[in-house]
Amino acid sequence: MAKYIGAHVSTAGGVLNAPLNAKKIGAKAFALFTKNQRQWNAKPLEADGIKAFKDNMVECGFESKHVLPHDSYLINLGHPDSEKRQKSLDAFIDEIHRCEQLGLHLLNFHPGSHLREISEQECLKNISDSMNTALEATSSVVLVVENTAGQGSNLGYKFEHLGFLMENSIDKSRVGVCLDTCHTFAAGYDLRTQQAYNQTMNEFDKLVGFKYLRGMHLNDSKTELSSKKDRHHSLGEGYIGIDAFKFIMQDERIDEIPMVLETVNSDIWDEEIERLYSFIT
Ligand SMILES: [Zn+2]
Ligand SMILES: [Zn+2]
Repeated sequence: MAKYIGAHVSTAGGVLNAPLNAKKIGAKAFALFTKNQRQWNAKPLEADGIKAFKDNMVECGFESKHVLPHDSYLINLGHPDSEKRQKSLDAFIDEIHRCEQLGLHLLNFHPGSHLREISEQECLKNISDSMNTALEATSSVVLVVENTAGQGSNLGYKFEHLGFLMENSIDKSRVGVCLDTCHTFAAGYDLRTQQAYNQTMNEFDKLVGFKYLRGMHLNDSKTELSSKKDRHHSLGEGYIGIDAFKFIMQDERIDEIPMVLETVNSDIWDEEIERLYSFIT
């Protein structure tokens, strides 16, 4: 089996440091922000930084298909207000260009939020239209939409939402999904026993399809099943428990994709990665 496990690493000092930080913790995959995730504007990437990033990728033995960049938290592709949605779309396209410059092929993003101003269906249509415009405006990078816990008015907490976005894409080769275990559980999909895990994943396969699964976030949850809260915990410390991560490691439908820890204690990421690899039989 081919599992590529890592963590969402720091880019303090520049994106060039992400591969180095990942290698230090024994990761075979990693996630990163290519700009400050809490600001709209960012300086363009400079040629020196791009080259250093690519050199470090090679030196540390990472392939771009195992790197899952994450976009800014401010972007809402489903925004009810068309001007604000356009602002998000412009920022999203800029994020895609940054990935392209770095030689990366995936971009992880959250679907969007209706802010209780429009219906879920209208919001999903906005997100789908935004994704299609972004696909038309760019030439590479797979748009990887993440499932959510359903906190606030965020969409993506039902597999049907993800399925809708895949189905309505104008280029199905350039869209995919990322399943976050904490969000999945908080949204009401159980993973704690082999039977529950199978049921959840079979439902995912039916409503979305494993062919679209391009990444995973491996997090335990500080809150209970169906809590609709997004609170990550270290593996085995939360309400999901360690067994779910064993089922994932032994599931060959989840090979070859980046699997990224966003757990709360980065000091133990090296141990968590090692433990996950030990579950592969
Ligand atoms: Zn996540
Ligand atoms: Zn989360």
